[in-house]
Amino acid sequence: MSRSESPKTLADWQALAASLTSETGLETLAFIDDAFVAAVSGETFTTTNPATGEALAEVASCDAADAELAVGHARAAFEAGEWSRLAPGRRKKVLLRLAELLEAHKHELALLDTLDMGKPVTSSLGDMAGAIACFRYQAECIDKLYGEVAPTGEEALALVLREPLGVVASIVPWNFPLMMTAWKVAPALAAGNSVILKPSEKSPLSALRLAALAREAGLPPGVFQVLPGFGHTVGKALALSMGVDCLAFTGSTATGKQLMQYAGQSNLKRVYLECGGKSPNIVFADCKNLGRVAKHAAAAIFHNQGEVCIAGSRLLVENSIREAFIDQVLEAAKGMQPGDPLDPESFMGAIVDEAQYRRILGYIEKGREEGARLRVGGEATRVDGKGLFIPPTVFDGVTPEMAIGREEIFGPVLSVFGFDSEEQAVAMANDSVYGLAAGLWSQDIDRIMRVTRRLHSGQVFVNNWAGGDQTMPFGGVKQSGNGRDKSHHSLEEYSTLKSVWMSLAP
Ligand code: NAD
Repeated sequence: MSRSESPKTLADWQALAASLTSETGLETLAFIDDAFVAAVSGETFTTTNPATGEALAEVASCDAADAELAVGHARAAFEAGEWSRLAPGRRKKVLLRLAELLEAHKHELALLDTLDMGKPVTSSLGDMAGAIACFRYQAECIDKLYGEVAPTGEEALALVLREPLGVVASIVPWNFPLMMTAWKVAPALAAGNSVILKPSEKSPLSALRLAALAREAGLPPGVFQVLPGFGHTVGKALALSMGVDCLAFTGSTATGKQLMQYAGQSNLKRVYLECGGKSPNIVFADCKNLGRVAKHAAAAIFHNQGEVCIAGSRLLVENSIREAFIDQVLEAAKGMQPGDPLDPESFMGAIVDEAQYRRILGYIEKGREEGARLRVGGEATRVDGKGLFIPPTVFDGVTPEMAIGREEIFGPVLSVFGFDSEEQAVAMANDSVYGLAAGLWSQDIDRIMRVTRRLHSGQVFVNNWAGGDQTMPFGGVKQSGNGRDKSHHSLEEYSTLKSVWMSLAP
């Protein structure tokens, strides 16, 4: 298969994978200023395909020295103004060009994410569409935002200007590598900042490819840099840096808490956090078409192997329909088994790495010990004799005291609870340290509005799960974080207001 054709079958994707690793070479070096370079220390780390256990590449392992270099270049670029003071309409053109390049390279980028972290390639292609749409949306937004003239008296002209912050460090996770990157990087660049991206050590490859495409699109040196490496080395150095003005983070709540401390210990940089969740999906007995709802409830947790911040991991079902509903969820789960991530027919792929795999299996064990009733799954499996795979796993009879009912597992494990009243459902849904997403299924519009308003959650899905597009902000409340990705609201995070009071002669 030639590289210009669209891969459609397992064999096509395997052929593309073979060509990627041998012919074109992967970007494995850090991208600092305007060049791909080894880490100052010369250190590397191995990134591995979790579906096969094979090493994919040795990637530059950046640390504090690389962070210092990148921050210096980012600051110099910001002060030089080639990007930060460029007219928004011209920044838009460059970012739209980058979106075109992402479109042209979407198969190869999707493949990198699939090889790196094990998700099915069809799902990775969906992520590419999301990433491209985000670059286009933010690029199109930036020349349509106006400042303000304040309503003062005739003695002054008072302007409220919106300006970029300076240097933004973006630290992202591995579950949607390029899409999460786009949600941070696109608005931060559109707003005129210099951006330093630290991808997860578990999925650095697409971010490095993005650096090459950004350079090709015409981003000036120092405006977009990529530092692969570990959280406790280069991530921490960026978070503690006196030269970084904003940390834009997506990842676990534990790391989010750490980043706030680093900001306090250094320069009080802004910290925007998109963290974990344990999202409730509430099914009322009056919902229409139980079979369809059950399919959505299963996909809400098993999509992306359950490695989704907004996974519908707590299923709250009205007791009068609970047994019948669970049967339908189990039926739906049969069609969502893990398979070769390169096979476009696979619904689930491999778990990202050994540590996450052990963690998920540990929770399944805990669920058994704590007395929840295992209805399906629960045992690891292999595909073609290889890899880290866990099939859909469903526990019934879960209570809020159990670890599987309370803690974020980040794997394909569904905890089912029963409830008898709307009041009880709302109380159970809100009984969590998290508040990222919540869903409810009902045909009663009064109930829908009542419950929607009472849910402590950044987003509420009514008669769907995970609906939304670029026009909608995405983020959480409570320990799910304080940031908002997507929509024009995300531009507010990457800019600041300057008040200008101009005295006028009488
Ligand atoms: P993680 O917190 O372990 O890592 C996230 C990133 O932070 C990685 O790049 C990592 O290297 C870096 N990091 C880790 N320790 C650090 C430190 N001390 N200083 C600086 N950087 C550090 O999270 P993960 O395992 O990569 O991702 C899974 C988590 O992400 C889940 O909790 C999930 O819910 C969350 N997530 C949230 C959203 C959202 O939008 N709310 C989206 C996707 C994932």
